[in-house]
Amino acid sequence: MARLELDNITKHFDDDGQTIVAVDDASIDIDDGEFLVLVGPSGCGKSTTLRMIAGLESITDGELRIGDRRVNEAKPRDRDIAMVFQSYALYPHMTVRENMSFGLEESTDLSDEEISERVESATATMGIKDLLDRKPSELSGGQQQRVALGRAIVREPEVFLMDEPLSNLDAKLRAQMRTELQRLQEDLDTTTVYVTHDQTEAMTMGDRIAILNDGVLQQVATPLEAYHTPANQFVAGFIGEPSMNFFDVDLQGESVVGDGLNYAVSESVREKLTSDELVLGIRPQDVEIVGDVESDHDIPVTVDVVEPMGDENNVYLNLPDAHEGETFIANVDGRAPVEADDDVVARIPEQAVHFFDRHTGEALR
Ligand code: ATP
Repeated sequence: MARLELDNITKHFDDDGQTIVAVDDASIDIDDGEFLVLVGPSGCGKSTTLRMIAGLESITDGELRIGDRRVNEAKPRDRDIAMVFQSYALYPHMTVRENMSFGLEESTDLSDEEISERVESATATMGIKDLLDRKPSELSGGQQQRVALGRAIVREPEVFLMDEPLSNLDAKLRAQMRTELQRLQEDLDTTTVYVTHDQTEAMTMGDRIAILNDGVLQQVATPLEAYHTPANQFVAGFIGEPSMNFFDVDLQGESVVGDGLNYAVSESVREKLTSDELVLGIRPQDVEIVGDVESDHDIPVTVDVVEPMGDENNVYLNLPDAHEGETFIANVDGRAPVEADDDVVARIPEQAVHFFDRHTGEALR
């Protein structure tokens, strides 16, 4: 087991003479046994970061340490890591048993007996004992992924690196494998870096999540910290489903005004607003629909569309002064008697409101 440290890591690619900054000065300390999820939209630099840790991509600047050992220049096989890819990357001509033992035969001096013991134990852990003599083409996608994971487990590495390992599975299997992977990682207690663009995976699996955008690390935090106290507007919008509602507002006296919203702000909150040009954010789950206006945080609105989700509804709301087509969402109990075109009151509790600097995106609190 090992601690993994990324110290001011940068990666530049050269694209026909143009420099692409794929990862810009990222620092993350990953604890021994921690499950860290790297998450962010397509192209944000997740895979490049993982590939630098794996040694599949050179590091332009910064230092990478595995268990206090600088590994910037170490070959992949000398880093004591095991990687699991989205594509599974199994050898098609080999059986499951051969796929799992191959890496060990090549890179270790374990005896045949020790290798077979490790393969036995990993196949038991992954529930694939019955598949040992099959070829990958004779396996379902889920089974192939189990073999790919089993192959990583037999290596007994210091660190697991996983690049979107579940994204080729259907939704149901993905959810099942998600819990299985978590249990596995807890049992093995191996430091793991897991890349995904799926925020549900990040929220449910990570001890901590590192959110990347455009090569820049935005926040490293527990899933709940990132949800409740996002460092900036990007994180606030990326984490949470449906996305946080945002209004561009200006501070005018004791209220913020803009995007059709006129919202009173108490003095204790106003004191923290270091800019007059702001973004007000409110999560759909924090918007309530009530009968009457009882305070200046209750706002008359019209229901545009109701999107039934089963036990809950996403209700799209129109502010009377908003531009055509500009709605915001309340996520409410599916039994709430709300229909399109209803005139209702949206309650936006002040303690649930987030403010961001409109120019830097930084959270103000
Ligand atoms: P995805 O989720 O789509 O896989 P990602 O977050 O993993 O995206 P990366 O694959 O790390 O993103 O890419 C980060 C940036 O670096 C992108 O702009 C990409 O185009 C660029 N990039 C990646 N590999 C290379 C390369 N070999 N040469 C030039 N540019 C590259």
